[in-house]
Amino acid sequence: MTTIAFIGLGHMGGPMAANLVKAGHNVIGFDLVPASCDQARADGVTVAGSAGAAVKEADVIITMLPAGKHVLSVWTDILPQVKPSSLLIDCSTIDVDSARKAHAMARDLGLQSLDAPVSGGVGGAKGATLTFMAGGSNEAFARAEPVLSQMGKKVVHCGEAGAGQAAKICNNMILGISMIGVAEAFVLAEKLGLSHQALFDVASTASGQCWSLTTYCPVPGPVPTSPANNGYKPGFAAALMLKDLRLAQEAALSSGAATPLGAEAAQLYALFNGAGHEGDDFSGIINFLRGQKA
Ligand code: NAD
Repeated sequence: MTTIAFIGLGHMGGPMAANLVKAGHNVIGFDLVPASCDQARADGVTVAGSAGAAVKEADVIITMLPAGKHVLSVWTDILPQVKPSSLLIDCSTIDVDSARKAHAMARDLGLQSLDAPVSGGVGGAKGATLTFMAGGSNEAFARAEPVLSQMGKKVVHCGEAGAGQAAKICNNMILGISMIGVAEAFVLAEKLGLSHQALFDVASTASGQCWSLTTYCPVPGPVPTSPANNGYKPGFAAALMLKDLRLAQEAALSSGAATPLGAEAAQLYALFNGAGHEGDDFSGIINFLRGQKA
């Protein structure tokens, strides 16, 4: 049994902490929202009065927070309180620069740390089927891997500090761009009198094949489990897609990478979100594209 502090008990962090309790760990949690603390308590988490109090006795400290500014602020608060042997793991999706700053803050105190963002959404958090993408030293990864495995089905060591965040935003930039491409193709097919099923049957076994088509098809019918068959309920909300595309654009700007399609995807998802679709599944962008005239 390991003593694990878990800061940020929201949609993702709450069920992740609950899975660590189920795995037999002593989990001490903290969140600013009382209702999240109450749910965590019901799941067997010991709730502390502050983030600092939660980490004092912990061997492993996990943060699952909205953005880089929250992670840097919480790590600034807790670092002076942690044991010298503690391992810090940030599972939030944040910008690469903030992730590297957080690692540097830990390193300055001689502490091991890992950035380990996830994919798999709330369903993956509840079912312990998340994929973790980790960045940090081999030693930090070796210590973290058994704990992360109890919240997910796959844990990938992507490289040094920040590499987990880099992998996450590069993957989601592919996803955002490819979903728009697939949606545009279905909209064009409709104009040309080609049925959804016919396009799917050809493209899913031809060179247009991709996850956005074959697993997450944005029109109802060809893939019965895709959100298009369920009124575009998420799934993966458009607001989160926009967040990740913006993180990719920040990283492109600070690293000097040319990502013109990533930039276009961020703009299109900003328009889609701005039209009131933040809570829709991101594949719902097909309805937005259908409404645009050439
Ligand atoms: P959420 O808003 O439900 O949870 C974040 C929690 O952090 C909230 O409960 C909030 O009260 C808490 N918090 C904020 N500041 C705090 C502080 N100073 N101290 C303690 N608690 C604090 O968000 P979420 O959906 O759980 O997402 C968490 C992270 O996971 C985000 O970075 C998100 O991008 C990423 N993510 C989310 C999903 C998803 O499907 N929801 C999927 C993959 C990755």
